[in-house]
Amino acid sequence: METCHVCGKPLDGVNQAICFTCHRPFHLPTRVDSEVDLCGRMWMDNESLGLGFTCEACARESEARYPPTGPVGV
Ligand SMILES: [Zn+2]
Ligand SMILES: [Zn+2]
Repeated sequence: METCHVCGKPLDGVNQAICFTCHRPFHLPTRVDSEVDLCGRMWMDNESLGLGFTCEACARESEARYPPTGPVGV
């Protein structure tokens, strides 16, 4: 069985997504009533207008590289 590479718990094959950046599976609740942890982010790709998925590990890494608060030291 595949496991979520963010929290290390098993995946159920339904409530999961593949990370756009590292291509590894992680927990993403696809149903409102599911009791699965959210181990990543969902975002809209402006170019393809499709949904993209990024695991929490890659999301934090990209935030560290590109802080969402804008230019530093202004
Ligand atoms: Zn997880
Ligand atoms: Zn990732």
